[in-house]
This record gives sequence, C-alpha cells and structure tokens, in this order.
Amino acid sequence: MKFFEPTTVDEAVRYLAADPDHRCLAGGATLVAMMNAQLVEPAGLVSLAKVDGLKGIVRGGDGGLAIGAMTLHQTVADSPLFEGGHALVRDAARLIGHPAIRNMGTMGGSISHADSAADYPAALVAADATIEIAGPKGRRSVGAGDFFVDYLQTALEPGELVTAIRLPPAPKGTASAYQKFARVEGDFATVSAAVVLAMDGGKCKTIRIAVGACAPTPVRVAKAEAELVGGALDDRALAAACKTLAEACDPVDDFRGSGEYRRMLVPVLVRRAVAAARKRLEAPR
Ligand code: FAD
Repeated sequence: MKFFEPTTVDEAVRYLAADPDHRCLAGGATLVAMMNAQLVEPAGLVSLAKVDGLKGIVRGGDGGLAIGAMTLHQTVADSPLFEGGHALVRDAARLIGHPAIRNMGTMGGSISHADSAADYPAALVAADATIEIAGPKGRRSVGAGDFFVDYLQTALEPGELVTAIRLPPAPKGTASAYQKFARVEGDFATVSAAVVLAMDGGKCKTIRIAVGACAPTPVRVAKAEAELVGGALDDRALAAACKTLAEACDPVDDFRGSGEYRRMLVPVLVRRAVAAARKRLEAPR
C-alpha cells in the first residue's frame, strides 16, 4: 500500500484523484480500525496531517465559524467560540466516544465517514452548516442537509475531500443544544436531537430541529418547525411536532435498540434539546 504526505490541498487532491482506491487518512480512529478488520483495503492512503490550513476554528467578520476538516473533536469540545446558535456543535463534540477518540478523531473524518449514529450530522444539519469541498474540478460547497446522502454515504465525488465546515452567523438571541441517548457513556447514539431556536417575547421566532440515528441521514421536517413558529413551544405544540418527526424517521432494529424504541425516544430527546436551548436563552449573561 502506498502512503502519501501532501502539504497542500491541491497536492492531496492530485493523490486522491490518481486512483479511486486512494483514501484520505485523517485521525485514523475509524479508517485504521476498518483496515485492521479487513473491511477496507485502500491501494493508498493520503494523509491530511501535514496539509496546510486544515486545522483550527476561525470566527469570520460576520460572526460565522469555519472549522478546518482536521480539527480534533477535543479542540471543538474545548473551544469558547461555540456560543448561542453554535453551542450545539460543541455539545456534540463533547459527547463523542471517550477522551482517546476525541483526541484522535477529526470533524472532517467523522462527517466523511457519515455514520448515521454519529454525533455531528444532526448538529450540523440543525445549525444549517455548509461543507467546503476541494476536488479535481475545483472547490464547491454543499449544505449539510444535502451532504449526508445515505448510510455511510456523502455527496463527496471521487477525488474530493472535505476542507472545512462553516456555520452561518447565529443572530443574537439564538440558542441551541444537542442531546444524545446512548446505552453507555462513550457509545454512538441510539437517538439524538439537535435544536437551534430564537424566541421573541415568549414566542418562537425561528426553530430548526434535526433528529439523529433514526434514519440513514438526519431527519428534519420543515412543516413541524413551521407549526412551532409564532407559538410558545408549549407541551401540546411540541407533542405535535415530535409526532410528525417520529413518523418521518426510518429507524433500524439493531443492538442499540429496536426501531419502535427509537421512535419512542424521539419526543424525549427533542423535548430535552428544546428545554436545554431555552434554559441557555434564559441564563443571565
Ligand atoms: P479517519 O478514520 O481517518 O477517516 C474516516 C473516513 O473518512 C475514511 O473513509 C477517510 O478516508 C475519510 N476522510 C477522513 N477525512 C476526510 C476528509 N477531510 N475528506 C474526505 N474524506 C475524509 N463518533 C461519534 O460521532 N460518536 C461517538 O460516540 C463515537 N464513538 C467512537 C468510539 C470508538 C471506540 C471509535 C473507534 C470511534 C468512535 N466515533 C464516534 C468515531 C470517531 O468520531 C472518529 O473520529 C470519526 O468517525 C472518524 O474521524 P477520523 O478523523 O479518525 O477519520
């Protein structure tokens, strides 16, 4: 097997595009485990470790955040930059695996692997994130809602890699939260829920909700969100929205829980996420 250590994104793209069996190597938390289990046998690994400009979190002049693909989960978990409408991404990072995984795995690696039970997908869809991609045909951006295509499948084309994840500016008065239910601490989600909301005078001004681990990709239902806007997010309104969301899910039966059990967890997780976001809005600054 060949091993490449490019130092620029363009060079990495050239190595990736040279052979469809060349794969990016980020933290290796997932890829190396899969290679050890002989589930994948790449012809070449393109290490992103020395590629310039792929690490770190930058706040733009507009208040949005850009997270380099090679940024470690632990860096996200520790960063004070994730406030208000961005806080749910840090919540998600803090709940990934255990410290060894958070100090090895990267955001780009996690979303490119696209495990439906992973923590970032639902958080990034609720946050309306954009995925920055580089490839043989140049650079492009894809909304998180279109990036996750199916179980372990993304919108990445052959020869492409993720360079960054962008979170749009979160207007003042926006709060967010990510909640996960797992069998034990450190496990992937049985079900998760991510919420970004803004309130105005006790009424919901905007809300985005994404449910994770309950379908091949995060589940978001615009109609359920629209029906919450203008209301007080009371129990009745939330119950109706949760029912719509649970019906839109397509959960599997597996060792983490049956599909029926997962559907029952949807309202629990969504309510918890809404309550946590509202608590943050009400907290004194
Ligand atoms: P790698 O393993 O290096 O790569 C993964 C895949 O993505 C490979 O196919 C690789 O070619 C591709 N890739 C990597 N970077 C890029 C890029 N920039 N562009 C295009 N393709 C790329 N995740 C959770 O969300 N929640 C959990 O609770 C959780 N628990 C875990 C527990 C254990 C024991 C383990 C081993 C993993 C766990 N994970 C969990 C997964 C973890 O978050 C991994 O870090 C992540 O899935 C892969 O990140 P990585 O940087 O190690 O990528």
